[in-house]
Amino acid sequence: AAELAMYRVKEDGRNGLRFFAPEMQAHTQRSLELAAGLKDAARKGELFLVYQPQRALGSGALVGAEALLRWRHPQWGLVSPAEFIPIAEQSGAITAIDFWVVEQAAQQLRAWDAAGLPPLVVAVNVSAAQFARPQLAEELLHILQRVDVSPQRIEVELTEAVALKHPELAETTIRRLHDMGFKVALDDFGTGYSSMSYLKRYTIDKLKIDQSFVRELAEKTSDMAIVTAIVRMAHSLHLSTLAEGVETAEQAALLHDCGCDEIQGYWYSRPLEPRAFEAFAKGLPQRGA
Ligand code: C2E
Ligand code: MG
Ligand code: MG
Ligand code: MG
Repeated sequence: AAELAMYRVKEDGRNGLRFFAPEMQAHTQRSLELAAGLKDAARKGELFLVYQPQRALGSGALVGAEALLRWRHPQWGLVSPAEFIPIAEQSGAITAIDFWVVEQAAQQLRAWDAAGLPPLVVAVNVSAAQFARPQLAEELLHILQRVDVSPQRIEVELTEAVALKHPELAETTIRRLHDMGFKVALDDFGTGYSSMSYLKRYTIDKLKIDQSFVRELAEKTSDMAIVTAIVRMAHSLHLSTLAEGVETAEQAALLHDCGCDEIQGYWYSRPLEPRAFEAFAKGLPQRGA
C-alpha cells in the first residue's frame, strides 16, 4: 500500500491525495521519511544484521546462518525489512545497502572463525534489481577479497523476481557468481510463477522451500506431497534443499522423512545477534566429544 501510495502521489501530483484515506496519507508520510532516512542509515550505525542458524537434518549440525537486516530507526524504532527493503529498492539506496550487508557478513565470518566456530556458510539476501548488473559478481568478489573471505563461504540468495525485467542479464550474473565459487540459493521456492523454468535456466545450488509449504505440513497431506516432490526433483537435479519457517519438532521430523537436507526456523533458533549466535554455536554438543 505504501508503494502504491507513493506511486500515485508521483503520478497525480498533489491532487491525487484527495482520494486517499487519512491512514494512507500517514503511511505515505512514513514511507517518505523512511526513504530519506535510509540514505545514511548504515553510516549512522542504525543498520545491523541478525543471523538465523541453519541445521543439517542428517547430522543435526549447525552448518550455516542467514544474515537478516534490521533497522533501528531513531524515531520509529525497529522497522521490518519487509517494509524498508521495497522502499530502498525504489529509492536506489538498495545497492549500497546490499554491499554493506555482504561486507558485514564477511567480517562476521572472520570473527567467528577467530572465535573457534565451525566453518559456517553465511547466506545473504541480494535484491532482485542487482542481478541486472553484470558487474555484480566482480563487486561482491572485491568486497570479499578486501575482508579476505572465500566466496565458498557466502551463499547469495535470490528470489524469482530477479528475472522479471532482464532474464539474460540475470543468467550471466548468476553464472559468474557460481563460477567464482559463490553458492547460489533460490529463496521462497514455490511461491512464484516460473519456479521450474528457473531451475532449467540458472546455475543454482540450493532451493529454499518457502515457509507457506511448511506451516501446515503436519495437517495437510497436500503440503507433504508437494515438499516430497520438491526434494526429489531438487536431488535429481543435484540441488540441495532447505526448508524455511520450521516452527515445531513435528515439522522437522516430517522434513527429515521427506529427505530435506537442512532446516531454518524458530524451532531450531530465532535470528540472533552476533554474540548470542556465538553462544548458541558454542552451546551445541561438540563433534566427537
Ligand atoms: P527471507 O529471506 O525469506 O527471510 C526469512 C524470513 O522469515 C525472515 O524475516 C525470518 O526472520 C523469518 N522467519 C525465520 N524463521 C521463521 C519461522 O519459524 N516462522 C516464521 N513465521 N518466520 C520465520 P525477516 O527477517 O523479517 O525478513 C523478511 C524478508 O526481508 C526476507 O525474507 C528477505 O526477503 C528480506 N530481507 C531481509 N534481510 C535482507 C537484506 O539484507 N537484503 C535484502 N535485499 N533483503 C532482505
Ligand atoms: Mg532469504
Ligand atoms: Mg525465504
Ligand atoms: Mg521471504
